[in-house]
Amino acid sequence: MDPFSEDSVEMFFYENRLKTFEGWPFEENCSCTPENMAKAGFIHTPSDNCPDIAMCFFCLKELEGWEPDDDPEKEHKSHSAACQFIALKKKVEELNVEEFFKLQRERHKFQIIKSRNNDITKFENAAKQRRADIIKTAIVEE
Ligand SMILES: [Zn+2]
Repeated sequence: MDPFSEDSVEMFFYENRLKTFEGWPFEENCSCTPENMAKAGFIHTPSDNCPDIAMCFFCLKELEGWEPDDDPEKEHKSHSAACQFIALKKKVEELNVEEFFKLQRERHKFQIIKSRNNDITKFENAAKQRRADIIKTAIVEE
């Protein structure tokens, strides 16, 4: 993947992350507003039964069950200590090319780990299903 391609770098920028928070359940008089969520690196990734799932665009950590008083930055750090984005001291706009490439490389590692974990889960589910089928067959044949 080209690290400078449009969709690959898009979510590095606050405004683009903020745009994803349409329909976010916490708007006013709380800590986890769309602005604070986006500032902390989160994008809104709701599903049908979970309207408050947010995921860090960088380390891909998903968090749900937000409370109005939750501080997005603190939550992010405590649930994903290895995330270099939330640990970043500079704004993305202030990084030089070398720093940005380094960050992109780290981000790819998270993507690889996540996709590998998904594959493992898929495999384990398939294996579980297969075992269940074998047991069922054995019972029928007895
Ligand atoms: Zn993160």
